[in-house]
Amino acid sequence: MSAVANQEIKLIARASEGRQNFWSLTLPELEQVMDGWGQPTYRARQVFQWAYKELAEDFADMGNLPRELRERLAETYSLVNLRAERDLISKDRQTYKALLALPDGQTIEAVLMLYEARATVCVSSQVGCAIGCPFCASGQMGLQRNLNAGEIVEQVIYFSRFLRRWHAGTAGELGSGITVPAEIQNVTNLVFMGMGEPLANYNNLWRAIRNLNAAHGLAMGARRMTVSTSGLVPRIEQFAREPEEVNLAISLHAANDELRDQMVPINKKWPVARLMEAASTYIATTNRRLSYEWALIQGVNDAPERAEELAIAIKGQLCHVNVIPLNPVSNTPFHRSSRQHIHDFQAVLTAHGIPNTVRIEKGVDIQAACGQLKAEQQGLTTVTED
Ligand code: SAH
Ligand code: SF4
Repeated sequence: MSAVANQEIKLIARASEGRQNFWSLTLPELEQVMDGWGQPTYRARQVFQWAYKELAEDFADMGNLPRELRERLAETYSLVNLRAERDLISKDRQTYKALLALPDGQTIEAVLMLYEARATVCVSSQVGCAIGCPFCASGQMGLQRNLNAGEIVEQVIYFSRFLRRWHAGTAGELGSGITVPAEIQNVTNLVFMGMGEPLANYNNLWRAIRNLNAAHGLAMGARRMTVSTSGLVPRIEQFAREPEEVNLAISLHAANDELRDQMVPINKKWPVARLMEAASTYIATTNRRLSYEWALIQGVNDAPERAEELAIAIKGQLCHVNVIPLNPVSNTPFHRSSRQHIHDFQAVLTAHGIPNTVRIEKGVDIQAACGQLKAEQQGLTTVTED
């Protein structure tokens, strides 16, 4: 890490020292705080309006609040807890990846992907990951810590602010590297596919989702959010019972236990048959289409037989398969499947009547797969190919 970056982290650490991350707060909680401070509770809504709609970075700017209240808020809470340590924009000008420093000096990744009328943000839920999938850069780091809810919410706010600045023509040098269509005024979609296992940080995940979804928050539709999991069965069942209609994706990658034990080691705890039961429960409870993710790895899980196993495992389910050609990570023995293998794999699924797509690749040149940029920063350089 450069001296300048180090200095910046110390600055945010000092700035947010002793203060709580504002974005972790729910509206009722802030109303209670206002009440405790002898303020009318409607002040909480005014603060939320400034924070989520105006994207204020400083309580001092909240012009319709009394000065003493603005000062007290600023002593207690912080609206800026993430600082970009590195920004990367892909050559196609549609993907912006930020390595974001947290107040304790840890770093996470978040990615903005622009595609037609969509602006999708890929957020991290943990620093590193405990699951340890051998092809994944986050898995190689182990789990450092959970993100708090505010740190999850603020990744989205970070890109909302960026889009706002872009349209205002004040996004600077970064802004000149990217092209934002006029109809994209704010973040439209969210995927929890950055670093970490979101369902292993369940309560913070849902607190964040609720602030992002609330009308008084960022007002993003739950149906525009997708949480991806490696297969934490009891949490999938709990997820199915949540009232918000958030989508779920399961990272399957193998449909037989021998192979999946290796690729997604949580499989040893909740094997494929148990995972399929939870998947069926999710579909029956929510009536929503489930997604499966399958990172295609050369010679590991890309044979037509593997596709047959997949088709048999999920046959009859209301589901969709996303085939993702692997983004190879260095220091791992895994390579991306050839175009022919990708095509043949897909053909088997299609022959079984299983809806599938090969995920359009975004930001391969900027290590957009989860944890890759951070891994590179730490010296585990990533290998990318077209
Ligand atoms: N932990 C969760 C969510 C984050 S990972 C999960 O595993 O689902 C998001 C997706 O990226 C997962 O499907 C994961 O398997 C996939 N992934 C991880 N490393 C990858 C790589 N190098 N290339 C392609 N996909 C990868
Ligand atoms: Fe963790 Fe997901 Fe990476 Fe597996 S693929 S190590 S579960 S982040």
